[in-house]
Amino acid sequence: MFVLLFGPPGSGKGTQAVALAARLGVPHVATGDIFRKNLREGTELGQRVRGYMDRGALVPDLVTCDLVGSRLEEQDAAGGVLFDGFPRSVPQLYWLIGHLGAGRRTLSAVVNLQVPDQAILARITGRRTCTNCGATYHVVTAPPLADGSCARCGAAVVQRQDDAEAVVRDRLVAYRAQTFPCLAELRDRVTVHDLSGEGAIDEVRRRIFAALAL
Ligand code: AMP
Repeated sequence: MFVLLFGPPGSGKGTQAVALAARLGVPHVATGDIFRKNLREGTELGQRVRGYMDRGALVPDLVTCDLVGSRLEEQDAAGGVLFDGFPRSVPQLYWLIGHLGAGRRTLSAVVNLQVPDQAILARITGRRTCTNCGATYHVVTAPPLADGSCARCGAAVVQRQDDAEAVVRDRLVAYRAQTFPCLAELRDRVTVHDLSGEGAIDEVRRRIFAALAL
């Protein structure tokens, strides 16, 4: 089953994707996570995408689609994938539809998480991320350990450069201009479940599972 989690940055896609992918029994493919891993490891791809990510701009479509294409070649992706943060532009969406279609596969459903901009700003600017394992925290609602380290692996927890307020505003502009238009295209092709992303994590998860009849 190929399912797509859609929504602005900070709508909770990454948080919800973990449980949803487990429930669907498919791998979670988050392009942002893959790019960040490459940044941490200092790979050539990491060097290429750093500038875009630091300023909250989209990585070019060709680079992103190549990356997803390689990921979809892996054996665990044969039966389905939960996409998180991809596609993020209309050209990426057309690429995905073509790529899946070439393998006689289609998108089964889209979950569109909706959160107002003010709530997004509060969520993202309070977010802190582990420098080692990528676990996320929030200064108010889910703080890291008292010494500022990660409860999962003990490494330092910091604010992602692209979670600073000015960059978040740019990411929201990029979302509206480049990503949001994908929704209309998606609605023509597949069932889009429009759900509120506000409320407790468990509550949102139940909403998603109910919409997908899981
Ligand atoms: P995320 O963790 O999904 O918020 O992504 C963080 C950053 O990675 C974005 O602001 C972009 O710079 C880049 N990125 C992630 N996914 C994509 C994508 N599908 N297309 C282009 N850039 C992306």
